[in-house]
Amino acid sequence: AKQEGRNGYSFYTPEMQARSVRNLQLENELRRALERKQLQVYYQPQVALEDGRILGAEALLRWQHPEFGAVSPAEFIPIAENSGLILSIGEWVLRTAMSQLKIWMDAGLPPMVVAVNLSAIQFRHHNLPDLVTQMLDEIQVPAQYLELELTEGVAMDDPEGAMAIMNDLHGRGIRMSIDDFGTGYSSLSYLKRFKVYKLKIDQSFVRNIVEDSEDRAIVSAIISLASSLGMQTIAEGVETGGQLAFLQEQGCDEIQGYYFSKPLPAEQFESFVREAQDN
Ligand code: C2E
Ligand code: CA
Ligand code: CA
Ligand code: CA
Repeated sequence: AKQEGRNGYSFYTPEMQARSVRNLQLENELRRALERKQLQVYYQPQVALEDGRILGAEALLRWQHPEFGAVSPAEFIPIAENSGLILSIGEWVLRTAMSQLKIWMDAGLPPMVVAVNLSAIQFRHHNLPDLVTQMLDEIQVPAQYLELELTEGVAMDDPEGAMAIMNDLHGRGIRMSIDDFGTGYSSLSYLKRFKVYKLKIDQSFVRNIVEDSEDRAIVSAIISLASSLGMQTIAEGVETGGQLAFLQEQGCDEIQGYYFSKPLPAEQFESFVREAQDN
């Protein structure tokens, strides 16, 4: 985005310039982040509201840079998408998460589902279904333990195309969930036809459910919609007991949020699961 100068020239404001310099630096650094082992996958528990069992985890990418420090995925994922780096990074996240799951299964942790975020480019890449099934085969994790998260915006951007890919993945036994549900514009007729296992209620609706009656109405509408379409619901960003109580009363299936745990490195996640088992 440029601004039109008085004499017709386009120029960048100093602030825009600083931002694009940082973006270019980050893009360059991101190219080497994998080989330099600066990327890590963290795991945030997903918990059943019925009995408090840990059903699985969402895999969330972390980038620790020696100079820039911890760079937020909200900043570097868009850079990875615009530069095409997301394909190799996304494949690495999938492989890392599935290999970790295999380690946990072999170590006797209860069976869990690991959810991995997919960007639009990965989802629409022609060989995604083959890539995923080959990887699961190689690592020897059954397909039912992988869940792929796709944002509502990406799914609804080209619903016919999305449906074909989802059908393919579904046929291979892989679960799909719709992320950030409620922030985009869902066509209900498509939603009905999508082979989707779970709707993830966006944290912007969960944040104020205790105080805000409109957010409460939206959340309970999403839960009944999902239940009438035969889909599960998970609420994101649950931080307080008050939020949890409302979600439980509404019949939400699962929650994810700081109330239970922040995203954790693999070893800490494992201890978290073992401690929960002992209680
Ligand atoms: P998301 O998929 O919606 O992930 C949920 C975000 O909410 C995560 O932020 C998580 O750390 C944060 N969160 C979880 N519980 C709470 C809570 O109780 N309160 C609050 N305030 N926040 C909570 P994070 O890890 O910074 O990731 C941001 C976004 O970056 C993700 O949003 C996702 O869109 C993207 N992302 C992260 N990892 C990947 C990845 O491996 N691939 C792709 N394509 N995108 C990723
Ligand atoms: Ca997600
Ligand atoms: Ca989300
Ligand atoms: Ca989000």
